Amino acid sequence: MKTSERTGQVVALCGGIGGAKLALGLSRVLAPGELSVIVNTGDDFEHLGLHISPDLDTVLYTLAGLADPERGWGRADESWNFMQALGRLGGETWFNLGDRDLAMHAARTAFLRAGGTLSAFAADTVRKLGIHAHLVPMSDDAVRTIIETDEDDLPFQHYFVRRRCDPVVKAIRFEGARSAKPAPGVLALLTNPTLRAVIICPSNPYLSVDPILSVPGIRDALSSSRAPVIVVSPIIGGHAVKGPTAKIMKELGLSVTTETIVAHYRGLIDALVIDRADGGDAARAGLPVLVTQTLMKDVVDRERLASAVLDFADDLRLTTSEMERASADA
Ligand code: GDP
Repeated sequence: MKTSERTGQVVALCGGIGGAKLALGLSRVLAPGELSVIVNTGDDFEHLGLHISPDLDTVLYTLAGLADPERGWGRADESWNFMQALGRLGGETWFNLGDRDLAMHAARTAFLRAGGTLSAFAADTVRKLGIHAHLVPMSDDAVRTIIETDEDDLPFQHYFVRRRCDPVVKAIRFEGARSAKPAPGVLALLTNPTLRAVIICPSNPYLSVDPILSVPGIRDALSSSRAPVIVVSPIIGGHAVKGPTAKIMKELGLSVTTETIVAHYRGLIDALVIDRADGGDAARAGLPVLVTQTLMKDVVDRERLASAVLDFADDLRLTTSEMERASADA
């Protein structure tokens, strides 16, 4: 393929910390305006009177260069006066809100109360923070991830933060999904006939990507996309890099393997990217597979993986168009 063809719109589906790492790599190797990120909002919740969108904020802070590099969530150079003062007053302190981060939640809550939408707030914030990608929440309607556990049904943040993912997961549901609509632009992004690639970032398939796919219309748009749909596995060598992905897989009776990731996305993806540690799984995947280093420790790793995934997508597109030409000639 000619270098001049290695351009075009790219869509990424993304949760929080894991997904945002690759989204950052993509935003750095693509031209300004070429990347659109559809972000999970199943983790959103109302807390202390504020509308909190953890994944959206992780992606916003990461792409704006404001994220805390150690924690992966929240802002760098943060202070915690609000939390300390809240604790002194006997307020709820299980969900940490840094002083600078608090400004985002207050601004968003005011925007929504004045009748604005989450997607309009995201677009506005992207501009204000000087981000060169489009960030679109999966829906402007409330879709809430509920974790059915061996103890109780827990709203996502209560499972994830307050209970530190301790309860055993039995099932996961997305309240409000059935009547939710994709945010404006989401379906158009996925059905764009000249789209270069759709990349499902290495996010938790059950907690971060499934909520996006639960919004009516998104799954169909993805499976009918003319662009290659590629998932980057969040599993490396039988382990999750971070978070409860592997624990949940085991609790749901699934093996922590490439095979499970392929089965999870069957019918939706055209190809798969796995780490070298899992290279032996490639032959059994039944799909085109790119084996490369997928562990992203620093920004160089993020850019390198982003470029490798885009090159892989371009090669897949070329192969498909060659096959279409050959069958037309036959
Ligand atoms: P959360 O919403 O903050 O939990 O973040 P995501 O759902 O976007 O990402 C969580 C997933 O990212 C976990 O399953 C991790 O295994 C995966 N992950 C984190 N860092 C990396 C990485 O560097 N490489 C790969 N392949 N997966 C990663």
